[in-house]
Amino acid sequence: MIDLRSDTVTRPSEGMRDAIAHAPVGDDVYGDDPTVNALQERVAKLFGKEAGLFTPTGSLSNQLSIRTLVKPGEELLTETQSHIVRAELGAGAVFSGITTRTWPARHGILEASAPLEIASPDAGAYLVSTTAIAVENTHNFGGGTVQPLSEIALLRKESLKLGLTMHLDGARIWNAHVATGTSFSEFGSHFDTVSVCFSKGLGAPVGSMMLSTHERISEARRWRKRYGAGMRQIGILAAAVDYALTHNIERLADDHKRAQILAKACAQVSPLFIDPNLAHTNIVAIDVSKTSKSAGELVAQLAEHGILAGAMGSKLLRLVTHMDFDDAQLEQVLKVLPDLLKRSLVA
Ligand SMILES: *Cc1c(COP(=O)(O)O)cnc(C)c1O
Repeated sequence: MIDLRSDTVTRPSEGMRDAIAHAPVGDDVYGDDPTVNALQERVAKLFGKEAGLFTPTGSLSNQLSIRTLVKPGEELLTETQSHIVRAELGAGAVFSGITTRTWPARHGILEASAPLEIASPDAGAYLVSTTAIAVENTHNFGGGTVQPLSEIALLRKESLKLGLTMHLDGARIWNAHVATGTSFSEFGSHFDTVSVCFSKGLGAPVGSMMLSTHERISEARRWRKRYGAGMRQIGILAAAVDYALTHNIERLADDHKRAQILAKACAQVSPLFIDPNLAHTNIVAIDVSKTSKSAGELVAQLAEHGILAGAMGSKLLRLVTHMDFDDAQLEQVLKVLPDLLKRSLVA
């Protein structure tokens, strides 16, 4: 099977398994695991932050981050299709009493004016006060789109004037870096808290990290334990991540190239399906709303040809390229997908 459902489906390479096997470890609840400690320092430094906290998932590092920025009953602004409001099952409300308001953005692409228009800091005694804004980069449900740095910088400048903090959901910030050349410290400089994932395109089996100040990270450390995610000899996971950071960032360019070839092949069948200029990174989001087939039906047809894809609702077919998807598999998909799309237009 060719698996393009997500970039989370990769398996650890020999080199990564070797790094796991030889990792020095200790009990991280006591702060004794040297490998995770070194990793937290490495990633914090990379993003120009004081400290980092390893978490099992990106949802947890997002949630720990926003709860240090937003008190119960206060408000977080985020884009309508963002992971924080669509894919974390209401965690911000359930665990932290955070209320959210959203702004819609075409393909998830940030325009600073949109959140600034709805921001409502110090709203007084009977309206909810906004305290933070979250930005997702790259934007998952937007189709792996990269946020314009100028809009991030503008939003930072204006929101600081309003006394608001900012969180970066950088689950795929690695892809944004490779697509634009923007440094990680530049990305980090615009945000109070950052969440990054290692289990997406970087190919680690487990792991995400929250990055921020010493103070916020020690608060988040207590909450991580309270949520039941204090972990023990996680150096074996941190070693896999360390290996991924060293070996698997630059190669994301290959994933982007293959995604671009897929996007162009779909656009060649009909420009209704996708604008290849919007396939910025490793996600190919194909709009099937103008066809006779639902995304789910196309997923089933692809599966009959040995290709796994994702349906994001009934109208969006999603293919995600990753390190375990090579040129031979790409050729295979190019033999099947354009044909199926063509037939979906007529049948
Ligand atoms: C994958 C992802 C996360 C975190 O997901 P987990 O499955 O909880 O690790 C967060 N934000 C975005 C945009 C993601 O794509």
